[in-house]
Amino acid sequence: MIKPDKPANEEARLAALRSYAILDTAPEDAFDDLVRIASAICGVPMASVSLVDRDRQWFKAQMGLEDKETSRDSAFCAHAILAPDDVMVVRDALEDVRFHDNPLVRGNPNIRFYAGAPLVDAEGQALGTLCVLDRQPRELTAHQLEALNALSRQVAKLLELRRVSRALSLQLEDRHWYETQLHDYQEHLESLNADLVEQTRTDTLTGLPNRRAFAAALDEALSRGRRCSVALLDIDHFKIVNDTHGHAVGDRVLVEVAEQLRSAAGGRGTIARYGGEEFVWLLPDADPAQAELACQHLCQAVRFASMALPVSISIGLAHGRPEEERAPLLERADGALYTAKRNGRDRVEVAA
Ligand code: GH3
Ligand code: MG
Ligand code: MG
Repeated sequence: MIKPDKPANEEARLAALRSYAILDTAPEDAFDDLVRIASAICGVPMASVSLVDRDRQWFKAQMGLEDKETSRDSAFCAHAILAPDDVMVVRDALEDVRFHDNPLVRGNPNIRFYAGAPLVDAEGQALGTLCVLDRQPRELTAHQLEALNALSRQVAKLLELRRVSRALSLQLEDRHWYETQLHDYQEHLESLNADLVEQTRTDTLTGLPNRRAFAAALDEALSRGRRCSVALLDIDHFKIVNDTHGHAVGDRVLVEVAEQLRSAAGGRGTIARYGGEEFVWLLPDADPAQAELACQHLCQAVRFASMALPVSISIGLAHGRPEEERAPLLERADGALYTAKRNGRDRVEVAA
């Protein structure tokens, strides 16, 4: 037996074979069909698609053969790939010095006849063969040889198709992964954005809406033509709290007053921190008398609340006039607040 040589381009050929990721995969009908057609056309009982690996030949499809693979040394196909452009025909293996004592000739499956058409890929690498075999010597007609050659090209195309579709499905997976990442990232950005919007509308110390949020709410109500009452609330003598007890206690009092106001407002309108120790209450569509009463209630709630320190608030209330805009409405509320301060604090004054 003469062992097959290795092709000069063996490493590149093996790399090409690996790129198909086909070795040791399950049988596929498309390859089985081509093997069946080859055996029928050539009138032989055995045929296979053999791929020549580093030390073995492995059958992607086979007919009339039992083993899934054989050693490369005993493989007829390992000889056939040495001449990628030709069909290798062995009329009678017993008469061929390369094969007469080959174990596949002397024993199972007792090969006598072999014809193998190399499977050549687009880069010219011979990956294996489409071969037909018989247990008796024979020859193929020119017609059969041509058909075997044509079928081997079909097998090579099938391999290429399989590789392309695999690459495509990997790309699709990749794309899916990128899309998922992008989607997650977008959601993350949106939630960050929502947080930022929230932060720009909320006073960090008290958790109440801030002056910006109040202005937006007032503008929105006014643009809808709603009559709004606005109350400016200011903590009395708050500077003394800071000066006497320190800024930290001052902050605590601010938080406590905010809580009192929020709970006393009972969900009516919008209570916001206007700035410093001032708050503002927006009451859209409020009845003036009801609004004044509600402000009195807020004053009392702060006055009688048990907090770190007892404090009181003064309130200036203004009822919106028809078509009145934000600035003059607030100015009137501020004027009323000034009056409340001047009149002794801890009271509600309503703007004229
Ligand atoms: P009035 O009764 O006339 O309103 O007197 P007041 O002392 O409350 O008014 P003034 O405007 O003189 O002082 C307000 C003080 O509020 C001054 C400032 O240090 C304090 N203040 C403003 N913002 C904060 C804050 O966020 N934290 C603390 N602790 N103090 C603040
Ligand atoms: Mg003030
Ligand atoms: Mg004050």
